[in-house]
Amino acid sequence: MTSDKKTILSGMRPTGKLHLGHLVGALENWVALQDTYANYHLIADYHALTTNLDSSGLYQNSLDMVIDWLAAGIDPSKSPIFRQSQIKEHTELHLILSMLITAARLERNPAVKDQVRELHIQNVSYGHLGYPVLQAADILLYRGDLVPVGEDQVPHVEISREIARRFNAQYGKVFPEPEPKLTKFARLPGLDGIDRKMSKSGGNTILLSDPPDEIQRKMRTAITDPQKVRKNDPGHPEVCLVYTFHQKFNADDTSAIERDCRSGALGCVECKKRIAGKIGEVLAPFREARAHYDAHPGDVKEVLADGEKRARVRARETMEAVRGAMKLG
Ligand code: ATP
Ligand code: MG
Repeated sequence: MTSDKKTILSGMRPTGKLHLGHLVGALENWVALQDTYANYHLIADYHALTTNLDSSGLYQNSLDMVIDWLAAGIDPSKSPIFRQSQIKEHTELHLILSMLITAARLERNPAVKDQVRELHIQNVSYGHLGYPVLQAADILLYRGDLVPVGEDQVPHVEISREIARRFNAQYGKVFPEPEPKLTKFARLPGLDGIDRKMSKSGGNTILLSDPPDEIQRKMRTAITDPQKVRKNDPGHPEVCLVYTFHQKFNADDTSAIERDCRSGALGCVECKKRIAGKIGEVLAPFREARAHYDAHPGDVKEVLADGEKRARVRARETMEAVRGAMKLG
């Protein structure tokens, strides 16, 4: 069970189908790093309850998310995939870690503040405020060294580091101080503006499972450079989210796109059509793999059962070390 490899822990909430932001901000790194690190991938179903108490769709959403991950190239024989709710040690470690951080520190957390504003939450629950403490338990339970996430999650990983330091100083060293690992596109914009993050709750996404005509339809709605009103007006790629998509998904043509946008030779309609076509192509193998797993739900359930068994072993080892360090018998 013990290996020389450093450990990665990263997860997502099962709150809906995955979009391009998940792929370029996190998933691509999970896949790229799965040979060099020991990767654990968690379905944060308890975390989903922080913004929606209805738990009836969580299981189905979790299975759907596993399909997205597998289709993106996660190899479950290397990287166990498991639900947070099925490994009881998460709740135990969460309780212990919750003593090691002040309520004031959690109230300053920018990520919860953003959610409260965006989702119009009137009264934040104790559990929602503790979101990053549960996340710290998720990471530290697997003694994660590295956490590949999008930029919005960096403040949470910082809280995990603080909690790890505090535990080690109080009880003796059990945990590494986990570090975030970002991709080049750690904050992919949504279709509604370069300053907005693509986000499930933002309604501004291209889903990994969208068929090509849906990608074309959505891309037509994308906000572009506000100064490029007519087709032949000179454009400013640096303020255009469609250009960001070209940089990521159409890298070979980027300099021609930039030149023709600036000169006015390329209109926005054509520019969008090209990138939508390209994204449709890039996602074709993903859609195919997804269809395969959709048709084999038994395989997906097996991936979870196996991942949960392996995750439990690591979680138990850590809790033994925690109880030992705390002299809890
Ligand atoms: P929600 O609106 O429910 O918060 P979300 O779309 O922001 O959903 P999360 O489940 O919060 O998605 O994020 C899962 C992972 O994907 C995190 O590591 C997050 O940083 C990353 N991620 C999400 N959106 C983007 C994005 N637009 N660009 C880069 N990374 C992203
Ligand atoms: Mg989010």
